[in-house]
Amino acid sequence: MSVENQLVVFDFDWSMADQDTDRWIFEVLAPDLRRKMKGLKEQIQWTDLVAQSLREAHTRGITRAQIEHSLRIMPFHPAMVRAVTNLKARGETTFLCLSNSNSVFISTILKEKKLESLFTEIVTNPAEWDNELLKLRRRVDPNGPQHNCKVGCSPNMCKGEELTAFLERHGKDFDRIVYVGDGSNDFCPILRLRSQDVVFCRSHRGLQKRIDNEVSKEGLKCQIQYWAGAWEVEEMFDRI
Ligand SMILES: [Mg+2]
Ligand SMILES: [Zn+2]
Repeated sequence: MSVENQLVVFDFDWSMADQDTDRWIFEVLAPDLRRKMKGLKEQIQWTDLVAQSLREAHTRGITRAQIEHSLRIMPFHPAMVRAVTNLKARGETTFLCLSNSNSVFISTILKEKKLESLFTEIVTNPAEWDNELLKLRRRVDPNGPQHNCKVGCSPNMCKGEELTAFLERHGKDFDRIVYVGDGSNDFCPILRLRSQDVVFCRSHRGLQKRIDNEVSKEGLKCQIQYWAGAWEVEEMFDRI
């Protein structure tokens, strides 16, 4: 199929990047906080828990420079840099990032990889530096109207609603949407994809599990292709 106008939607953690930003920085700088998060994640909403852990890291003197350094050394496959750079150079693709990480983690890494102008929009939780403290908030303010997701997205953001809102904002139809994701929260948006769209699903993670368990109930119109390493995404982008 010849495509003149396509949208590539990227999840960030374990999809574009080869690690999870929220967990990685604590594994590098404060493994005891990482352990504590593991114990608290069933009780505290994840974005709130990361925000709380960042405050705790700040209290014990962990600096902005240390956090930025840990992000710059986070695993990120060179084949992924090539894959997106070459696809963008072909000209027919718009890139959208849909992530439960945050604006500072993502922009710090994209800058390091010289990919800061890749995405048309980065839809994620807002964060900002207040001197040495990284302040993080949910994308959906807990004190305002909540999202209406019925398929299990966390209160901080529904990726399905965000994808629909982006398509409305953008105001034109894409010939094809390619969704690159790995996590259970990527299941909601792919339910909204059409028969000409395709999911590039990372194998053996939350998204594949939900596809295996829930597709018979929820129905899925789009195609699915599986990958394990970023070098395979590079091959898949070269073929589309
Ligand atoms: Mg992910
Ligand atoms: Zn949702």
